[in-house]
Amino acid sequence: MDTTNTPTEVRPSWDEYFMGLARAVALRATCSRGRSGCVIVRDKQLLVTGYVGSPKGLPHCNDVGHQIKKTIHEDGHITEHCVRTVHAEQNAICQAARCGVVLENSTLYCRMTPCRVCAMLIINCGIRRVVCEYRYHAGEESEQMFKEANVQLEFFNEEVLNY
Ligand SMILES: [Zn+2]
Ligand SMILES: [Zn+2]
Repeated sequence: MDTTNTPTEVRPSWDEYFMGLARAVALRATCSRGRSGCVIVRDKQLLVTGYVGSPKGLPHCNDVGHQIKKTIHEDGHITEHCVRTVHAEQNAICQAARCGVVLENSTLYCRMTPCRVCAMLIINCGIRRVVCEYRYHAGEESEQMFKEANVQLEFFNEEVLNY
């Protein structure tokens, strides 16, 4: 038996450490369709956290059910999304706005490739690196925007999440 690398002796890397925090934050999510959490970090220091949930004071999916809207895509296929919630990435950015935290040159850790809107906000906040636990099956547009805007995008896991 190889005892040189037992789990208790292995310290997580910084990326693993912050991804672990993002997973813990996700436990507070209030929409079961997209239970995700996110942390934003600079110089190995935690700046803000966010999880998927309704705007402050509005009812949560947990309590009143989802608010589903259909989207008809250019090729005709239809997808359904819950629109009641502010995404984890957006909530982390809002927390920074409320608390006056500068996000320039920071790194964001999240569950999967941010959606199109989140990607645009991430770019304009000055976040320079995005680390996702999984690749989102419909994340190509975000991937392309990050590339054009020179935001470094990395994946922990090559498994693609269909969601
Ligand atoms: Zn929901
Ligand atoms: Zn999003």
